[in-house]
Amino acid sequence: MPETSTRERIVVVGSGFAGFTCASELCGRVAKSGRDIEIVLVTPQDYMLYTPLLPDVAGGLIDPRFVAIPLADALPKVRLVVASADSIDLAGRTITVTSEHHAPRTLSWDRLVLTPGSVTRLFDVPGLREHARGLKTVAEALYLREQLLRQLELADQEEDEAVRRARRTVVVVGASYAGTELIAQLRALADDYARRRGLDRADLRFLLLDTAKQVMPEVGAELGEKVLHELRGRGIEIRLETSLRELAADRVVLTDGTEVPTHTVAWVTGVTGAPVLETLDLPLERGRLVVDAELRVPGHPSVFAGGDAAAVPDLTKPGEITPPTAQHASRQGKTLARNVAASLGIGTFAPYRHRDLGLVVDLGPRFAVANPLGIPLSGLLAKAVTRAYHTLAVPRGVNRWAIVMTYLTNTVTQRPLALLGLVSPEEASFARAEGISER
Ligand SMILES: Cc1cc2nc3c(=O)[nH]c(=O)nc-3n(C[C@H](O)[C@H](O)[C@H](O)COP(=O)(O)OP(=O)(O)OC[C@H]3O[C@@H](n4cnc5c(N)ncnc54)[C@H](O)[C@@H]3O)c2cc1C
Repeated sequence: MPETSTRERIVVVGSGFAGFTCASELCGRVAKSGRDIEIVLVTPQDYMLYTPLLPDVAGGLIDPRFVAIPLADALPKVRLVVASADSIDLAGRTITVTSEHHAPRTLSWDRLVLTPGSVTRLFDVPGLREHARGLKTVAEALYLREQLLRQLELADQEEDEAVRRARRTVVVVGASYAGTELIAQLRALADDYARRRGLDRADLRFLLLDTAKQVMPEVGAELGEKVLHELRGRGIEIRLETSLRELAADRVVLTDGTEVPTHTVAWVTGVTGAPVLETLDLPLERGRLVVDAELRVPGHPSVFAGGDAAAVPDLTKPGEITPPTAQHASRQGKTLARNVAASLGIGTFAPYRHRDLGLVVDLGPRFAVANPLGIPLSGLLAKAVTRAYHTLAVPRGVNRWAIVMTYLTNTVTQRPLALLGLVSPEEASFARAEGISER
């Protein structure tokens, strides 16, 4: 039997940028209206993850706790259900949630908000699921840091030169902002390691691949060239119009046939909608749920969706959908709250309309690029803008404070290199970390 309520109930699925903002805004709108409406947030983690700083976690610069916003503190008026939404009955208005800690439960809803975000887009490359890891979760970011440190330590004790070289090689696939930030941070971590262990940094090999013709097309050609120049100056090899043909435990083969011995491969080639969306039998566009400009699912007036999980029409660029960014997801969270409340008679509907304010991309020591409001910036000024932007965007004071203190501490000390062995390769796999089914 579904758990029903005499109160009206809004169920929000997912506590990322869109779901978190939506739940938070809904609290304010419902409180103002004086109505007795229950807001339930269904999410597998009890925190909201500030993903733009995951490359800093992978690089060992920031503690993962600082990028995790505890939901119980941040959303005290919301009922948290720490579980995964596994099956959704749109006609019967119920949702079934599961968790390893309790039997499946079914909840009824009056309004449903689908914001389960996205997962790494995988391709049919032999060995990819077994030997590569993504960067969407805390487990994956921590694993990449530990894998790099472990391989560097093993290399120090390795007598076979070829194996030593393989252990000191890192391959990152995907040169959009997330992959590029990741390789910059991993290179900085390895450089710190080399400096402290008396190792020649030229013995470390970092390779960034992408099928595109340019790194970070999101920031335009001019800044893309600057990034290319900076990364190459730091000893990062960049191969464009190149990807992976196959992966094994100790090597990869590139699409041009080159074999690269390595034990560390990160796959950061873009995202597709969360797996739960495929169970809904609703139209998808590029893996994302089709919605109208008011973020409603066509044919289901009580169901709304936004963020990476939804193909939201971009009213500023007719015919296009908004890209999967945190900036859009949080703003869509606000529109979701407004329109869900309007559907219950509180306030009025509004379409989602937002012009992109630009991107900030932190690329390791003393370098970043940014294009706030279309103004291209690079170097230290961009670094200051980038760090200020992220610090202010983190939605909780204590987390902001911890991040600022870490950045300040890092100006006078080097990042810690301790290998804690917190995440196993299985825990960081696409299946366990992101819930992508094993095929
Ligand atoms: C490394 C990295 C760096 C990035 N940097 C930037 C940046 O600098 N700027 C920028 O604008 N964007 C950036 N992004 C993109 C940004 O993180 C996403 O666009 C944003 O997180 C989307 O928000 P969302 O709320 O739609 O989804 P998410 O933030 O992915 O949240 C989805 C939530 O839904 C939960 N969920 C999934 N399935 C279920 C289910 N079945 N039941 C219940 N809950 C579920 C997830 O656990 C998660 O809590 C970056 C992304 C990555 C990975």
